[in-house]
Amino acid sequence: MPGSVTFCELPSLVEFVGVTRSYGSRVAVEDIHLGLDPGELVFLVGPSGAGKTTLLKLINREIRPTCGEVWVDGLPAHQLSASKVADLRRRVGVVFQDYKLLPRLTALENVAFALQVTDLRISDEEARDRGLDALDAVGLGDRADAFPHQLSGGQQQRVAVARAVVSQPPLLIADEPTGNLDVETAWQITDLLEDIANFGTTVLVATHNVEIVKRMQRRVLTLVDGRLVRDQPAGRVGRLAWAAWS
Ligand code: ADP
Repeated sequence: MPGSVTFCELPSLVEFVGVTRSYGSRVAVEDIHLGLDPGELVFLVGPSGAGKTTLLKLINREIRPTCGEVWVDGLPAHQLSASKVADLRRRVGVVFQDYKLLPRLTALENVAFALQVTDLRISDEEARDRGLDALDAVGLGDRADAFPHQLSGGQQQRVAVARAVVSQPPLLIADEPTGNLDVETAWQITDLLEDIANFGTTVLVATHNVEIVKRMQRRVLTLVDGRLVRDQPAGRVGRLAWAAWS
């Protein structure tokens, strides 16, 4: 009908459908149902052993679910053949607590190398240019030639973030990205992750940092004993949210 408006729901970028993952007889996550939308910044919290890392590894297809389905940007991570896993990984940037930079490569080489690994057709020159752009974006354009040991922890984590987003993936997952950083630097990295989400990337951050989660007022998923016990929308993160695990 002319003039009428059709509303349609955008598909989730990440979708967990009844996902359980066990290690032997140990159930790490159980019956997880979850959707993450494009451009959301979401925190994943819970005590040690709650299943946060397992959930992130399921997204990146480091592990497969014991049962259930994991969809990432339209790809079935739960049943991808080994040859298709690279397609999935191109869509998922990853940041770790301990940065995991290659120590013998400069900041720029770390970023450019990651780009070329995900796409073998990218020339050295293009990788260098895009790597420099990514380092500029995280405020480290002037340290491109520094080796990891010449950078502070916060700077190394910025390089790691640049490496994770250089291929402009629709999704960034971060496992305790501020766990090794002092309070001020942790905030700087969090601001960076927020900027990345504001530019349209979905960002999922597993963290123990209660202060950051409270003040950011973003969506919070709480895992306890492998169960998703709370899914709090952005802006409604209050005291009760922490009772289960803090
Ligand atoms: P979190 O990241 O919240 O600390 P994990 O996902 O690392 O939790 O772990 C969830 C549960 O799965 C824990 O009980 C842990 O001991 C178990 N687990 C994790 N990885 C393995 C593994 N490779 N082998 C056996 N058990 C594991």
